[in-house]
Amino acid sequence: MKQYWNIKAKYSGMMLFFRLGDFYELFGEDAVKAATVLEVVLTQRAGIPMCGVPCHSVNSYIRKLITKGFKVAICEQLEEFGNAKGIIKRGVTKVLTPGTILEDTLLESKENNFLMSVILDDNTASATFAAADISTGEFFVSETILKSIEAEVSKYNPGELIISTGNMQNKQISDFKAKLKIPISDIDNSFFDIEKAQNIIEELFGISAVKKFGLNKKEVVCACGALLAYIKEMQPQSVSIFSEIKYVRNSDFMYLDIVAIKNLELLNSMTSGKTENSLLSVIDSTKTPMGARTIRQWLIKPLLDISKIENRQNVVRFFIKNPNVRKEIIEKLKTVSDIERITARVSSGSANPKDLTALKNSLKTINNISEIIKSADELDFNIPKNTQITNKISSYLSDEPPVSLKGGNVIKNGFNAELDELRKISTDAKVYISNLEAKERVASGINNLKIGYTSVFGYYIEISKSNVASSPKHYVRKQTVTSGERYITEELKILEDKILSAQEKTLRLESSIFNNLIQEISVFTADILKTSQIISEIDIFCGFAENAIEYNYVCPKISEGRELSIKDGRHPVVERILRSGEFTANDITFDENSKIMILTGPNMSGKSTYLRQIALIVIMAQIGSFVPSQSAEIGLVDKIFTRIGAGDNLAGGESTFMLEMSETANILNQYTQRSLIILDEVGRGTSTYDGMSIAWAIIEFFADDKRKANAGAKILFVTHYFELTKLSETLKGVVNYSIDVKEWNGDVIFLHKIVKGSADKSYGIHVAKIAGMPHQVIERAYKILSRLGEKAIKSSKYDESPQIEFFCATQQQVLTELKNIDINALSPIETFNILKNWKERYK
Ligand code: ADP
Repeated sequence: MKQYWNIKAKYSGMMLFFRLGDFYELFGEDAVKAATVLEVVLTQRAGIPMCGVPCHSVNSYIRKLITKGFKVAICEQLEEFGNAKGIIKRGVTKVLTPGTILEDTLLESKENNFLMSVILDDNTASATFAAADISTGEFFVSETILKSIEAEVSKYNPGELIISTGNMQNKQISDFKAKLKIPISDIDNSFFDIEKAQNIIEELFGISAVKKFGLNKKEVVCACGALLAYIKEMQPQSVSIFSEIKYVRNSDFMYLDIVAIKNLELLNSMTSGKTENSLLSVIDSTKTPMGARTIRQWLIKPLLDISKIENRQNVVRFFIKNPNVRKEIIEKLKTVSDIERITARVSSGSANPKDLTALKNSLKTINNISEIIKSADELDFNIPKNTQITNKISSYLSDEPPVSLKGGNVIKNGFNAELDELRKISTDAKVYISNLEAKERVASGINNLKIGYTSVFGYYIEISKSNVASSPKHYVRKQTVTSGERYITEELKILEDKILSAQEKTLRLESSIFNNLIQEISVFTADILKTSQIISEIDIFCGFAENAIEYNYVCPKISEGRELSIKDGRHPVVERILRSGEFTANDITFDENSKIMILTGPNMSGKSTYLRQIALIVIMAQIGSFVPSQSAEIGLVDKIFTRIGAGDNLAGGESTFMLEMSETANILNQYTQRSLIILDEVGRGTSTYDGMSIAWAIIEFFADDKRKANAGAKILFVTHYFELTKLSETLKGVVNYSIDVKEWNGDVIFLHKIVKGSADKSYGIHVAKIAGMPHQVIERAYKILSRLGEKAIKSSKYDESPQIEFFCATQQQVLTELKNIDINALSPIETFNILKNWKERYK
């Protein structure tokens, strides 16, 4: 325990897995916490809580802890059991934190595992963030406004985060931490020190690296430096994977905040929280893990540069027009391994022989793909030639090496003379052994005498029980087993030493040759990563082409203009869930005359689907994909905002209405004339009059052309308040749409078709009926509705100054007057006159 506590003291913030024979044990506080998370039994020894997990399945336990945000330190036995004098030497050999893992079994193959650093600055209301993935070698840094930092960080879904608290108030920091729900590691602010940062960057990337990468702001340098310093502390070998730092300008990409990513179900479905039924799931037809990770990044970063988008479209078009090329490439891609993550393991020195064989085979396949690409004039991909790497691996490694170096036979015969010699010694010695067996049989006259081997006792001669009596005198007894006795002789001992020492030397030599190979390959890290990046893109493009053909997508026309016109658009996810032909396609047109679309219609008629489908088509278009419609013309959209009620997080603490208002406020403060804004029933979170007034005012705000900077944004407004449809009569650019409903034989059919004009009924009771509400309730509801309906018709006359406002003001007036009246001073006739006056005034 003394040894344990000594080690534990150095790894106090981590779960220390302490190796004891075939188990890793945790003690004290660690054990108490781990037992709950890992669902293992908590015991006690001498008053110290402890729990343990078996070595062979340790990874699954580590994974559980890491995903919960814990850090884990693995403490191994550093000596062979037999060799130790006193207590076995132990030490920490590996540290795993959520953001710095390399083990394939702990990583999600289709997702990046970013570690991020953040600097918050209250003075300038800005934030700087850097992100690195040590398993893929990606490293970038960017800046944003303070308000958007949570959104930016959540987009990358980092495994771990480090923060510089800088000049922020503690309260702000703790709010930020609370909102993120990402493991945050407390580190010393000195990690963010500018001098340290500069030094570590230049040490890794060369003297003028800071300048070369365009890191021309103090915070930017500090964010990168802190990240590198942290990685260096946790996984020192891993820093060499990075070959550059990319400065990402956020303004180069469409702004999508975390609310939009969630509401539009870009990465995960809202109901299941999983990728299934998300936009990602329908556009991702990639075959390689690198491709899958890259498309995920593309999806949250649609482009704003027409020529870049068109370049992507051109490649997709090429693959559509050349099915043979596409199919051949796709077949090849299917056999390409995760060369990016293998490279990360190579550069950190943890790659195994199988990794290198996979790398070799993949690079060979990629060379074939490269040949195919080169033969097409239309394509311009410059895949590095990786023949030096494949040749090296081929010349070093045997054709089918084992996963681990321990088994031997990793290095090819003929590669190294000394190795060949050692191998010969052990094979020859094995021949001697079988010769010796034959010789001893003859000499002793015991026919079933045999020579065997165990790892604990080494070589032995075994004689069965019945023959033990006639065993030769010079045999030395070693062990008794049920079947007989085991012996050793001088000659056998000499042979054994020869074999075992040759074997040991072989393994040592193989391992050192293998490490040389790793060293030689790690020189090519940047080349392999570049190859991987290009292959990811080709993978995505082939997938886009496949999707376009299979699901009838068209190439959208992207323009600098501000119009948006989609003919027969479909929701890419919903259309796949429905049976073919069941989805009703719908148009949309935004132009000078129609910028604000007010959509009314019954529940369940398809309003939300329609809203989302427009945003999804725009996003697909701007990442370079073809889109589900008959035609589409899209003026570049710079930001997409959504305010949709369904995802409101009641458990989150903020009241639903507060959340609704703060999200809407956010939109009104940030949109530009190029933005697309989707508002689903804003105002529904409060009383009808409040809600309607707010919705009304918001539409007026959007329609107000005087604010030139954002005049012309495209707005889709779904509402239950039919009153709002009257706004189209007075406000320019406001157009009403509704969803067509057919009443047929007393039943109602939703056609999911968007038509011009406003809806006149909400059919809520009809939906209640479909939902299985008792007959009695439905009947009664219809009766009440018809009575209310009559009243509503009487009072629904549209007035320039809305009635509600009028009504409230009146109430207020009367109340004030009432308060000021002194009843004791009034005669009955005066009282009567006041009443009469009111009556006349507010007829
Ligand atoms: P609302 O927002 O009006 O309540 P939704 O958009 O949630 O309605 O749509 C309700 C259901 O109707 C969807 O789950 C989908 O199955 C179906 N639906 C929606 N739009 C269409 C469409 N265009 N074609 C066919 N079915 C649709």
